[in-house]
Amino acid sequence: MGATTKKPPQRATPVGRDLAKVHRFAKDLLAQHGLSDIWSVFWAESLENSNGGGATRTHTKRIVFSAAHIALLAPAERRDTVRHEVAHAIVGAAAGHSEAWRSKAIELGGSGLAQLTHSALLYPWYGRCPDGHAFTSVRPPASTGFTCRDDSHDEPVELEWWEKNAKSRALDPGVKRMAEEFPEPEPPAPAFSVGETVYLVPFGHKLDNAPMTVVEVKARQYVAHHADMGEDFNVDFEAVAAAPAE
Ligand SMILES: [Zn+2]
Ligand SMILES: [Zn+2]
Repeated sequence: MGATTKKPPQRATPVGRDLAKVHRFAKDLLAQHGLSDIWSVFWAESLENSNGGGATRTHTKRIVFSAAHIALLAPAERRDTVRHEVAHAIVGAAAGHSEAWRSKAIELGGSGLAQLTHSALLYPWYGRCPDGHAFTSVRPPASTGFTCRDDSHDEPVELEWWEKNAKSRALDPGVKRMAEEFPEPEPPAPAFSVGETVYLVPFGHKLDNAPMTVVEVKARQYVAHHADMGEDFNVDFEAVAAAPAE
């Protein structure tokens, strides 16, 4: 005791309880399909490119939920997101949002929708760029403000206006707590740098063993360019190797 300022134990907020429910539902659904020993469930405060709220990491067999995004969803949408990700785990992420994935998601009781959209007004930050693109974010602005990264701009464009919605559920302390309670393990150090050629570790995908060029190194993923397809892909550090597999 003494002069130390020890925080009292934190009580779960309604948002925190909702997220914990999603966690249990995901674990139960994996267990029902005999996948509990193979797949694990983790939480991040927020994931990039996560409109629906989750990501399936094939090479490490992880489902990762974006707590801030899940917090924005209605109860039925939260369950739908769980079914969405577990369907990926069952049919294999290589199937993408194909018919095989869709029918599995529906079989699990889900909508089979590839993406959920929700009102910009639910987000903690929303705005518009001079070209009229709607902008939303679950992350606070950089010191320079927000920029629109729509593909139609050659360079990121500063927003014309943006507002903070302090009442957004994404700002609830339960969001941060979930990420602290179930953090995704640290990724390995990136083995490749920009400009190097990497090969996709096979997982039953049409791009298995495809050579790609690293164009950006992010926190857990590379952005890798596939020359023949002329497209960039986000690939986990664990998903590429220095040489094609035998
Ligand atoms: Zn998906
Ligand atoms: Zn724009």
